[in-house]
Amino acid sequence: MALFDPKAKAISNLQKTIDEKNLTITKNYDKIGRLYYGQYKDMNVDVTTDINTCCEAVSKLIDEIKDCEKRILFEKGLKLCPNCHKENNLEYAFCFACGAKFGTKEEELHASVATPVVAETPVVEASETPVTPKEN
Ligand SMILES: [Zn+2]
Repeated sequence: MALFDPKAKAISNLQKTIDEKNLTITKNYDKIGRLYYGQYKDMNVDVTTDINTCCEAVSKLIDEIKDCEKRILFEKGLKLCPNCHKENNLEYAFCFACGAKFGTKEEELHASVATPVVAETPVVEASETPVTPKEN
């Protein structure tokens, strides 16, 4: 039954994405360990930049996983309270546990899904509308 439920499929895909991201996090931790050990063996080697790159990658992946978890909740008709992090029904206007007020459904989804995308999107000048021809 679950196989024919599109929601279940979406949730299973998101879960798969989370698993893959967790695997990448583990690989990064592994790399950080090896870099650190390399420096321990040879103090002349500066691995700070490489380690920071790995740490940034891990932080990004953790954010992306949180994003996927929110989407899974959304598919299940649930959302997390921004205040106490308890699971609430999507329809609730206030958290059943702590009473914190939720935004609209659209705001909730945007807050959880759109934020990381917006952060990476370069700022486009509003005054100029560049006309880019399709052909080269
Ligand atoms: Zn709450």
